[in-house]
Amino acid sequence: MKVIVVGGGWAGCASAVSARKLGAQVTILERTDMILGTGLVGGIMRNNGRYTAELELSYLGGGELFNICKQCCKHDNINFPGHAHARLYNVGKIHGAVKNFLENMGIKIEFMSRAVKVHMENNRIIGVEDDKKFIYEGDVFIDCTGTAGPMENCSKYGNGCAMCIIRCPSFGGRKSIASLAGVKEYIAKRKNGQVGAMSGSCKLLKESLSTEIQEKLNKDGVCIVPIPQELVDDHLGVKACQQYALKEFKNNLIILDTGHAKLMAPYYNIEKLRKIPGFKNVKYEDPYAGSKGNSIRFIGMCPRDNYLKVLDVENLFCAGEKAGPLVGHTEAIVTGTLAGYNSVKYICGCSMLSFPRKLSIGDGIAFVNEEVKSEEGLSKKFTFSGSVYFERMKKLGLYSVDKNEIKDRVEGLSLLNILNSK
Ligand SMILES: Cc1cc2nc3c(=O)[nH]c(=O)nc-3n(C[C@H](O)[C@H](O)[C@H](O)COP(=O)(O)OP(=O)(O)OC[C@H]3O[C@@H](n4cnc5c(N)ncnc54)[C@H](O)[C@@H]3O)c2cc1C
Repeated sequence: MKVIVVGGGWAGCASAVSARKLGAQVTILERTDMILGTGLVGGIMRNNGRYTAELELSYLGGGELFNICKQCCKHDNINFPGHAHARLYNVGKIHGAVKNFLENMGIKIEFMSRAVKVHMENNRIIGVEDDKKFIYEGDVFIDCTGTAGPMENCSKYGNGCAMCIIRCPSFGGRKSIASLAGVKEYIAKRKNGQVGAMSGSCKLLKESLSTEIQEKLNKDGVCIVPIPQELVDDHLGVKACQQYALKEFKNNLIILDTGHAKLMAPYYNIEKLRKIPGFKNVKYEDPYAGSKGNSIRFIGMCPRDNYLKVLDVENLFCAGEKAGPLVGHTEAIVTGTLAGYNSVKYICGCSMLSFPRKLSIGDGIAFVNEEVKSEEGLSKKFTFSGSVYFERMKKLGLYSVDKNEIKDRVEGLSLLNILNSK
């Protein structure tokens, strides 16, 4: 049983773990020299409804990657505007920890292997070819290539390449397996009709900030600095992460300590930043051209069902941002885990699993799929951590931070540890 996962972001890693636990031989193809993709510059977990989603998946038996985030945690149970009980992982530690975990499980990771072609027999993929002309044959394939970039999209729909963590000039741009297999993908729109959305945060070198800000970050994990009116740079409308598009994020610099100083703004003119108290010597860490812009995402998502099987190709699954505008690491781990599990069930001819709508993770996956069918839905982004979907979670009574209640919900559905059952 061979599963080939293309893309080593959080979704790819979760798919690989889940498929491997069911006994499959798993290979991840990753175009860069590191796994975790945009997760290399993220870090926020467990804020708002992500807490519930994390626990639901853990009680279903899929908690391994969340445990690694806990081990690499820099701050826990912190609050910032609109967001409660967040955990921040250390972006300097997370890569090594996840890579070691995957390798110890016997998952093969092929770095600098950019998939550029698919080999098909009728409607079935038999192999994926990378840019060095190696062909990886498999029984089933999972497209976890994300939606960020490539550079043409950042130029056409954004402010040009800002030299972000995706590193297209060095490793070649993102390439979608579904689209190579002939699937017609869909794209997200902004409210003003523009295509895609811009990534919503950047990293500053913590050491380039004033001692007071560094101390506050090290102690509390959060630092909120009011912006003098004349220096406000308002980019809320372009943000991919609508859960942070609140007025507090326009009028203040909201900085979180993820090892670096995570500035909750898509980009910010560095000349203006330098005039804000505490930022005189500020330096960008990601994207390097954070004065100018950030990556464009949510272009090229796959039509799929709630098992995360891609429609119209026999043996292709998808997860993470590829599976729809469900934004975030938690969301990528949830969909990745389901896609990995179902990919193995599919090869074995067993019935596949869709998470029940009585759980937020089941409702979230199904709801996004319904929403993207309308023009209005295509202009929204969904996440357990805020905005429209968190409101829905609260309205449906799905949001909870009570561990026993969440466990009872999973147990009541007879799904406790289901993801570990072969
Ligand atoms: C700057 C930034 C900050 C963020 N901060 C947070 C945060 O704090 N908390 C949070 O929850 N979410 C955050 N997010 C969102 C979150 O990172 C993503 O929604 C989620 O991690 C997406 O995971 P993914 O695996 O679907 O895609 P990606 O992370 O985009 O991973 C896709 C992977 O596929 C690889 N790939 C692409 N094409 C190919 C190919 N043809 N062959 C081989 N490999 C390929 C890429 O190199 C990449 O490693 C942030 C996003 C950005 C951009």
